[in-house]
Amino acid sequence: MADVSGRLNETHDLNGRSWIDAANKPDCPFPIQNLPIAVFRRSGSSEPFRGGIAIGEFIVDLAAPCLLPHLGETARSAVSLASSPCLNAFMAAGRAVQRSLRSDLSRILRHDFHERKNVTEALVAIDQAEFKIPSQIGNFSDFYCSIHHAANVGKQFRPDNPVLPNYRWLPVGYQGRTSSILLSGHAIGRPKGQIRDADSSDPIYAACRRLDYEAELGIFIGAGNALGNPIAIEEVEDHLFGVCILNDWSARDIQSWEYQPLGPFLAKSFATSISPWIVSFDALEPYRLPHRRPAGDPAPLPHLASKQDEVCGAIDIRISVHLQTAAMQAHDLAPVRLSSSTYADSYWTLAQVIAHHTSNGCNLQAGDLIGSGTISGPAPDARACLLELTEGGRSPVTLPSGETRAFLQDGDTVILSAWCEREGFARIGFGECRATVQAAE
Ligand code: CA
Repeated sequence: MADVSGRLNETHDLNGRSWIDAANKPDCPFPIQNLPIAVFRRSGSSEPFRGGIAIGEFIVDLAAPCLLPHLGETARSAVSLASSPCLNAFMAAGRAVQRSLRSDLSRILRHDFHERKNVTEALVAIDQAEFKIPSQIGNFSDFYCSIHHAANVGKQFRPDNPVLPNYRWLPVGYQGRTSSILLSGHAIGRPKGQIRDADSSDPIYAACRRLDYEAELGIFIGAGNALGNPIAIEEVEDHLFGVCILNDWSARDIQSWEYQPLGPFLAKSFATSISPWIVSFDALEPYRLPHRRPAGDPAPLPHLASKQDEVCGAIDIRISVHLQTAAMQAHDLAPVRLSSSTYADSYWTLAQVIAHHTSNGCNLQAGDLIGSGTISGPAPDARACLLELTEGGRSPVTLPSGETRAFLQDGDTVILSAWCEREGFARIGFGECRATVQAAE
């Protein structure tokens, strides 16, 4: 375990209790130690969307005027930025502004806040809210940070050489598509594309037959960097905003035909799902872990290495995948868990990813989204996509309904959930990212 004590404050205190009772229940994803942000409004209303913070079964509406008298000057400037329908300006404002809002809200929501009656008007029930994508996402880059994923996938295409020579030297990534980033709950249409079967010489244009999910985390960038000014690995944390759950839907048959030599294109760009809640990096401090490479692997180049990254560069965010088919739903069978894994098993840390991404002078901007890459671990039940789990479709999984799946069928619902837990600290949740596959048009 990393000694993170120097990085903690009163907002992380396990004994912190809220006057909102539901926040104190052990299975509540949104205790007072979490305080994730989303952009919301009351369901079915024409209210403007604005930022809100989750606590128990409520959202604290950051546009509510009743909050203002109870906030310090910096936190007041934070809510004026965060009450907009796009959080880019709040993200750009930097860690100190974001931290002051967390600190003031933590105080207002604590059990010993005596003026609670004055702020109850700011509370909106989560189950009466609808959400939107929280920022204008200018850019989306997806990485490939789990060496277990890279090896499991690579050996299907290149049994003799599953992990390519560059893998241990740089975090492999590609530029993704922002216009098809969808919020959790939005249906996913089965894409069509060029598919070339192994036994035929010419490709056909047809509906994808090997549709897959990838369980990932999405990292929102806070303060950006100027073009030409790389972010040093020691300074990456100043540029991070928070983390959501991300599903990088993948059309494997389209991907295998199109991916060489420039990487995936239409196999990925038809849809990417994200969860509405963003957990801040301040909330994630207790769950950091040391990051070490396997013995014998090359040391990262100096611009991708720092002492701090070795001490606490990994983050123990657990992510699980559940599947519920249309038949399971019809028979009231609960979603079945397909995998469970942790971001702490990543070969490349987030600091290394950001340092690498900007090492050529590329400018990241507030609200940009970074995909972690499929979060697979070494165990068989930690394979976080069907391509790995079913070994390219050769070993289908059997479901509680008696059905089998090699890849996703129409009507299948994929549910990703994520959380952090560590002895001596609160268990904090990310909520979920779910979507149902629809037949091709
Ligand atoms: Ca991916």
